[in-house]
Amino acid sequence: MNKSITLDTPINLLSGVGPVVEKGLNKLGISTAKDLLMYFPRKWEDFSKLSKLNTIRPGRVAVSCKVLSIAVRRSHRNKRLTITEAILSDDTGSIKAIWFNQPYIVNTLKKDQSYLFLGNFEFKNNYLSLNNPIIETIDTDNQRGKIFTTYSENSIVSSKILQKLLSQVSHLYTELSDSLPTEVEKANQLIDYSSAIKQLHFPDSMVQVEEAKKRIGYAELFELILTGKVLKSEIQTENSAKIKFELDVVERILKQLNFDLTDAQRKVAWQIFQDLDEPHPMNRMLEGDVGSGKTLVALLAAAMSLNSGYQVALMVPTEILARQHIVTFKKLFASQSIRCELLVSALKGSEKTKIHQDISDGKIDVVIGTHALLSEHVEFSNLGLIIIDEQHRFGVNQRRALKSKANFMPHVLTMTATPIPRSLALVVYGDLDISVIDQLPPNRKLVTTKIAGDQSRQNVYREVDKLIEKSQQVFMVCPSIEQDDSSGMKSVKSVYNNLKNTVFSSRRIATLHGKMKPLEKEQIMNDFRDHKYDILISTTVIEVGVDIANATVLIVENAERFGLAALHQLRGRVGRSNVQSYCYLFTDSSNPYSLNRLQAMEKTNDGFRLAQIDLETRGPGEIYGTTQHGILDLTYANIFDTRLLASVRKTVESFIKEDKMLQYPELVKRINELKKLTSLD
Ligand code: ADP
Ligand code: MG
Repeated sequence: MNKSITLDTPINLLSGVGPVVEKGLNKLGISTAKDLLMYFPRKWEDFSKLSKLNTIRPGRVAVSCKVLSIAVRRSHRNKRLTITEAILSDDTGSIKAIWFNQPYIVNTLKKDQSYLFLGNFEFKNNYLSLNNPIIETIDTDNQRGKIFTTYSENSIVSSKILQKLLSQVSHLYTELSDSLPTEVEKANQLIDYSSAIKQLHFPDSMVQVEEAKKRIGYAELFELILTGKVLKSEIQTENSAKIKFELDVVERILKQLNFDLTDAQRKVAWQIFQDLDEPHPMNRMLEGDVGSGKTLVALLAAAMSLNSGYQVALMVPTEILARQHIVTFKKLFASQSIRCELLVSALKGSEKTKIHQDISDGKIDVVIGTHALLSEHVEFSNLGLIIIDEQHRFGVNQRRALKSKANFMPHVLTMTATPIPRSLALVVYGDLDISVIDQLPPNRKLVTTKIAGDQSRQNVYREVDKLIEKSQQVFMVCPSIEQDDSSGMKSVKSVYNNLKNTVFSSRRIATLHGKMKPLEKEQIMNDFRDHKYDILISTTVIEVGVDIANATVLIVENAERFGLAALHQLRGRVGRSNVQSYCYLFTDSSNPYSLNRLQAMEKTNDGFRLAQIDLETRGPGEIYGTTQHGILDLTYANIFDTRLLASVRKTVESFIKEDKMLQYPELVKRINELKKLTSLD
């Protein structure tokens, strides 16, 4: 231990770190002693309870054994598979251990030497064996204790190297701190931060690992929930346009429709109207599954804002969606002298300039656009309401940029079909109010979803052709535009060429993808909408928002390549009328993880349920695009632990009530950092 090493010491000053190892460490994100301490293990293996061979039962076991013999051979059945077999023994008996495709093990293990093995003792190929056990040398210096930690490694830096380096900086634990107030720590029987970090790296027992994870996870939740609360109370002090509720405004719109609002739409619209009628800004997220009718609710909110004389901006992630919305808005506002304009990057320079000018002169009432709305040339004269559709497609900076274009705090309505489980929403979006449309318009039939392989392709096509015969339309989605790569990935062009000349040769087929010119895309979308085509083969450009009720079939190629959220969104393109719709998920994958996901699609149409499954398998950051915020860098916080969440929330509430924030400058600093990352300024 070298006491001159501090948290900021560059990693290359530790002994054993030459240029090569330094580079390897840098690749893992480690450049200082502190980074090293903050590089947590990925796995802990419990060697504290060693079993004797004459008492082991099938299941996960750790044993200390001598290698009696070891050999590697090729599998008879599959020549590409290597099988390494060893006979292990202790003073009570012997067992066979098997490793698949790890031929190098034969060089790792020395005959007649003893090692620790940890793995599944299970029945396979007709006998019980210890399968793919991890191997540890028996440490004479016992540096690593009985719990063996594994880190994410690279070709240079192994877990063992990390462990050795960590032991050089063990005097630094006590210098680590986080922002969790000690009183909160005590009241919740949590260990202190430095002990937690130490226990993660060098635990004496699994209990210690759990204690450490709990401590770190608790702090993460505490900070996030507190940030949300702080933001929420801050927004209450801001002034905004007061938008008066008038029933006429709603009725003018509704009487043009040939359907009634669902109860759920009515309820959320009412919540929004109440918010708008307050003197401080609304900050509400509208969640509703695909096809639940969010656009109409947004349009009603816009109508109310316009009625009070305030401009409205609606931002969407794709041009296709912007063009679809502008049609809807223009239609429903046609009888009123309201000017709705489109602003997308595809417009000519002169058109854009004109629109920019008219927005700032207040001559445009509603502007619907893509990222083009964020251009520095866009300045509103009187912006009262911002609506962001498919909000998960935008980063926090983009949302904030749009807000900065108003000359006072606008009301903000964000919409998403990617449902965020309430427990998570309360953590990540604690500053938002949430409304949920928990009901689809009546008479919708659930989309029938089937996983399909190549062998059933012709059958599926025949079924689909019958539907085309009945005047229904089809979406086909491929993961790529061009080249089929060797992995057999289907592309828009190859599928088109194939179908055009075979099964669907008499059908009208169009293709659509992101590399096409915007006007071309628009033309194709419009033509498809007008039923000039039977089949639209596209990339995921149609993933969000597209609303064509006559389309009743969705075929997804290489479905295993898409996440659940994307698949659910894609499936939302069909099932938008009272006609039965179908979704075929083609895959040739045999990966159990992928198949599980696709089976979940077969089993349920419930976006919330799917989001939950996705969340459990992939983690929150990836799903909600929150990775880009960095806000969900939750290492150990368990957002499924509703009891824990409730308890943290209670702690946060009393903490705020007792006005204790200012006693903790570190916490204030941290909250200010987090504030920049969340959905509000
Ligand atoms: P999403 O919530 O996915 O954005 P949309 O707003 O695109 O859904 O609505 C889907 C379709 O349902 C649209 O064609 C819309 O006109 C229609 N719709 C909306 N509300 C109702 C309702 N209450 N009854 C029947 N159809 C409705
Ligand atoms: Mg929508």
